[in-house]
Amino acid sequence: MRITALAGGVGGARFLRGLRAHLDADPALAETEVTVIGNTGDDITLFGLRVCPDLDTLMYTLGGGIDESQGWGRVGDTRTVQGELAAYGAHPQWFGLGDLDFATHIARSQWLGNGMELSAVTARLGQRWGLDRRRVRLLPMSDEPVETYVVIDDPTADRSTKGTEARAGLRAVHFQEWWVGMGAAPPARAFHAVGIDLATPAPGVLDAIRHADVVLLPPSNPVVSIGIVLSVPGVRDAMRGTSAPVVGVSPIVSEAPVRGHADACLRALGLPTTPAAVAGLYADFLDGWLVAPGEEHPAPDGVTVAARPLLMRDPDSAARLAGDALALALQLRGARG
Ligand code: GDP
Ligand code: CA
Repeated sequence: MRITALAGGVGGARFLRGLRAHLDADPALAETEVTVIGNTGDDITLFGLRVCPDLDTLMYTLGGGIDESQGWGRVGDTRTVQGELAAYGAHPQWFGLGDLDFATHIARSQWLGNGMELSAVTARLGQRWGLDRRRVRLLPMSDEPVETYVVIDDPTADRSTKGTEARAGLRAVHFQEWWVGMGAAPPARAFHAVGIDLATPAPGVLDAIRHADVVLLPPSNPVVSIGIVLSVPGVRDAMRGTSAPVVGVSPIVSEAPVRGHADACLRALGLPTTPAAVAGLYADFLDGWLVAPGEEHPAPDGVTVAARPLLMRDPDSAARLAGDALALALQLRGARG
């Protein structure tokens, strides 16, 4: 069997590690190949190094090297290099980079500098984590750089001159500056994926969606993780066109994101923080949707909504959730004949 998933960072990674555990526990499913299409809209260049936070969270989590308590970064990491950078007055300091993590960014930047594509670099980094052996193929959504920017109010702007956005009191900051540096506190007015019009899906991305047996949407951020992957030209059409059932998991439980600031992201689109609003963002290709018990809502046309425990408290509960998503997908697949 071939399973393809679109994913952001922590929510996607924990779900997919659970999926792999669920598959590996069943000899009939263990041979299943999992292709993960990771969001690269969060990518940023810091200290001259290319950092791909979502790809790295996926790689470290699936490879067994993640810092579980943070959900990102390397377990047991230290901050010596970042401390030295601070001593030199080198900025920014709001983005945490561990010493072990720095090696990933240095290797990636070196190989990109030698002319390798991001997809090839990602595969090479993944070798160190045994992703192949674990039957996981990690693909960036695109080899071209895409960076998400967030439009926020600029209280310092000169409101006396009208015309351009900047003069109207708005400014755009890199997604990471808003999310990490500002804790997503300034209300987001809009998101722009800079570079998306010129981006093409990385090699293997469209095939993985079109030729999958099952497509899963982990409970990743619907706007700035999965939404960005879907906006790579061709990806959404492939999702609409695939014959595989598409099953998603709500990242929203009790009208709040389980972690992070998905509520602030949905608000920017004028949407409430509800599982139904998230399902609505996927309505043109979604077949099945898992929500928390008691949060069943009228399904968009053609979507089967099912209630299951949605909290990934540990690897076992994540495996159960992934198993539930897969079971729904296989049930929908069976029903299609
Ligand atoms: P990020 O890139 O690190 O922000 O990670 P993702 O985009 O992959 O996932 C973030 C989303 O995962 C957030 O909107 C969370 O609400 C959701 N999430 C995190 N943990 C859980 C969980 O245990 N269960 C569910 N259903 N969603 C979760
Ligand atoms: Ca992310």
